[in-house]
Amino acid sequence: GLTSRLQNVFGKLRGKGKLSEEDVNEAMREVRLALLEADVNFKVVKDFIAKVKEQAVGAEVTKSFTPGMVVIDIVNKELTELMGGTQSKLAKSNRPPTVILMAGLQGAGKTTSSGKLAKMLMKDKHRPLLVACDIYRPAAIKQLQVLGEGIGAPVFTMGDKTSPVEIARAGLAHAKEHGNDYVIIDTAGRLHIDEALMEELRQVHEVANPDEVLLVVDAMTGQEAVNVAQSFHSQLELTGVVLTKLDGDTRGGAALSVKAVTGTPIKFVATGEKIEPLEPFHPSRMASRILGMGDMLSLIEKAQSNIDAEKAAEMERKMRTAEFTFEDFLEQMEQVRNLGPLDQLLDMLPGMGKMKDMKNVKVDEKQISRVEAIVKSMTKVEKQKPEILNHSRRKRIAAGSGTSIAEVNRLIKQFDDMKKMMKQFSSMMGPKGPKGGMK
Ligand code: GDP
Ligand code: MG
Repeated sequence: GLTSRLQNVFGKLRGKGKLSEEDVNEAMREVRLALLEADVNFKVVKDFIAKVKEQAVGAEVTKSFTPGMVVIDIVNKELTELMGGTQSKLAKSNRPPTVILMAGLQGAGKTTSSGKLAKMLMKDKHRPLLVACDIYRPAAIKQLQVLGEGIGAPVFTMGDKTSPVEIARAGLAHAKEHGNDYVIIDTAGRLHIDEALMEELRQVHEVANPDEVLLVVDAMTGQEAVNVAQSFHSQLELTGVVLTKLDGDTRGGAALSVKAVTGTPIKFVATGEKIEPLEPFHPSRMASRILGMGDMLSLIEKAQSNIDAEKAAEMERKMRTAEFTFEDFLEQMEQVRNLGPLDQLLDMLPGMGKMKDMKNVKVDEKQISRVEAIVKSMTKVEKQKPEILNHSRRKRIAAGSGTSIAEVNRLIKQFDDMKKMMKQFSSMMGPKGPKGGMK
């Protein structure tokens, strides 16, 4: 990730001072690479780098920050700003129903997202009506009906013989009659943008007079998402974007490009096929995802609600000073286990993604119990001073925990790796960490 790359750039540069143009140039090469790797449009990258450079040259490096941290801070703030700063809210009409038109290419996730949007609104006690305007794909109407049934939302259909324009008109009337305060219009998509599709959407737009025109784009399509957004925006005046399939391994650079190129804010993200409430878009979290720093905010938020704050602060201190013992290792594992799926958590933790690559750390729930057994078979001194673990001690521990010497060796190696990682990470973050440290 970018964190470790900048660590290398600034490896020799320590302590107080101002960032020189030379330092910044070198750092910007890494930032540029990280953005291109995340599939951000190259023109967007170019403008962005110029802007960041301006701020970074001459920036003060105070005692509590490392040079790398100063740069990341500027990059992160600018990225967040570029994606709209704060979260954008869904429009709400003064004269209900609020009408939401869903548009996008075939397979982008319009129908699925319509269902998620309905579910989100229902959670807030609204009464959305789903309107089936995709009359072209044979199974499209059925798909929306099944989906509506699953979440208990009404679906308005007129079969596939009536035009989408008429269906939209009738759907709106239906909503007014039945007291639905939101109308979500699911439309057809094509594989590529074509004039007939646009014309139809314009007509539906005209009769529905939507408060929101949400473009649904597939984050996995990367650069292509920008072209799609540009075409739709020139024809339809989009009010927002729903970025889907962020559960894939994309870094989400499309989010940045789409906003930068069209000026349309991303309002929601979707992260799976299951119909869960649509998630609001958090620019700052997307910024750290794009930078490959791990979704630290999510992790901290999650941890805050689950981990004992005092223990976490103590752990942070230990990470900083690298006086991390097997007892801490075990305790941390137990706390982490309470947080949820381990794989997901490790992905969110900066540096941990790299550890997984090293293939030393296997994240397997079953293995944790074995790790527990091994650590519990150590004496107090061994847990605190792992360096004394010679062959005969390891043999004893293996026998005591019902594991093998190979397993014990592997665990000790993992522990050492983690310790090294933490030391690296905490020196990157400076003595106080970003904005006062992880609490
Ligand atoms: P539409 O043609 O735009 O209406 O797209 P659909 O809603 O029918 O979705 C197309 C496919 O993408 C379906 O198989 C969905 O289950 C899947 N899909 C939609 N949103 C997501 C998402 O956020 N993540 C993943 N992994 N799949 C999604
Ligand atoms: Mg559909």
